[in-house]
Amino acid sequence: MPAQRSIVICGGAFAGLALALAFRQGLGADIPVVVADPALAVRPSPDPRATAIVAACRRLFEALGVWDQVSDSQPILDMVVTDSRLEDATRPVFLTFAGEVVPGEPFAHMVENRRLIDALVARAEAEGIDLRATAVSTYDSRADGVTVTLADGQIIEASLLIAADGARSKLRERAGIFTHGWDYDQSGIVVTVGHERDHHGRAEEHFLPAGPFAILPLTGNRSSLVWTESRTEAARITALGEAEFHDELEKRFGLHLGEIKALDKPRAFPLGYFVARSFIAERLALVGDAAHVIHPIAGQGLNMGLRDVAALAEVVVDAARLGIDPGQADVLDRYQRWRRFDTMAMGVATNSLNFLFSNESTLLRTVRDIGLGLVDRAPPLKSLFIRQAAGLSGEVPRLLKGEAL
Ligand SMILES: Cc1cc2nc3c(=O)[nH]c(=O)nc-3n(C[C@H](O)[C@H](O)[C@H](O)COP(=O)(O)OP(=O)(O)OC[C@H]3O[C@@H](n4cnc5c(N)ncnc54)[C@H](O)[C@@H]3O)c2cc1C
Repeated sequence: MPAQRSIVICGGAFAGLALALAFRQGLGADIPVVVADPALAVRPSPDPRATAIVAACRRLFEALGVWDQVSDSQPILDMVVTDSRLEDATRPVFLTFAGEVVPGEPFAHMVENRRLIDALVARAEAEGIDLRATAVSTYDSRADGVTVTLADGQIIEASLLIAADGARSKLRERAGIFTHGWDYDQSGIVVTVGHERDHHGRAEEHFLPAGPFAILPLTGNRSSLVWTESRTEAARITALGEAEFHDELEKRFGLHLGEIKALDKPRAFPLGYFVARSFIAERLALVGDAAHVIHPIAGQGLNMGLRDVAALAEVVVDAARLGIDPGQADVLDRYQRWRRFDTMAMGVATNSLNFLFSNESTLLRTVRDIGLGLVDRAPPLKSLFIRQAAGLSGEVPRLLKGEAL
């Protein structure tokens, strides 16, 4: 086996591990796949967050043999959207969604990040993927291959290097790829809340002047919150003592699910938006947060990353089956053409939503509430939105349809 036929993936989180499994499925064991990430040494995963996985991405995990191993996933069975001020006594519901894309298939599931990561690692180990608990230090590319240097001193000759190394991607920087975007001056406070009553699988998005306050159902009487505030307010809230934090929480969460209690320490994640100016360079492809970061307002960040994974895996596997070198420029071009437009469109949509909903303007409030009311009264429009949110519209890669590569 010539060593240059390896594919090296830098970053062993959601995007990197899912891509490794997709390559293994489509390319077989003849092409070695190496995943390098120092975080692989930390098992089980300590990630306290939870993520909404939309139907198309659940299909991808099913096709990769991972979904069955993800314990405690909670289907989102319906969703309500409200729009009010913090001090308003009631939260009028402007929009409701029943949560199925087709009968029996919820449009999304809530999954705890640590359970998903651990399931991906276990599956990668079972598939014999070469997992290295070390960083990628640097690389040198040339027309016919790429030399990858790991932090433990190992050198790997590869045909293709994947940057799945997150928002602050060192490989993107090394390739000289700039990004276009900005900080929102908002943070997302993430905390798990226990409550007395059952949420019945309902997700709630409360549009408050500081930004969206999302209550996302977890198994048991628990929900995961993504609570948007300005950066300074988020820093103040997360530094509060238990009792004061509880008061702030109750003001927003309310008591419709009975008594509530924070089950873990609230953490604030600074929010920003960017898209890489190119998703590819010589012998290099960017996937997931290395290529784009969007506002969590629609819970689509990772889902976009998994669309990258499905599209890149498909073009690489199709090329390899025709005997074409998978790191060749025209193969990577095909990936970029497939993903860049979709990514820009989602960026525009989430930026507009955040602008429209994270403010107190009476005019904008009237406009958006009329809009929400109109959508609520138009079932075909609602089902279009559901399919869009579930990742089932547009040119859908095979893995996202649940088909093997
Ligand atoms: C508050 C909040 C809520 C969110 N909610 C949702 C949601 O509901 N739904 C959704 O779809 N998305 C959501 N997202 C977005 C989602 O969390 C991210 O899109 C996702 O984590 C990105 O995964 P990734 O694998 O691309 O990158 P990351 O998870 O950032 O992983 C990158 C990996 O690369 C490794 N790495 C870095 N440098 C190197 C190196 N030099 N060598 C080797 N390894 C390296 C790191 O150790 C890390 O493991 C949310 C984000 C936030 C902030």
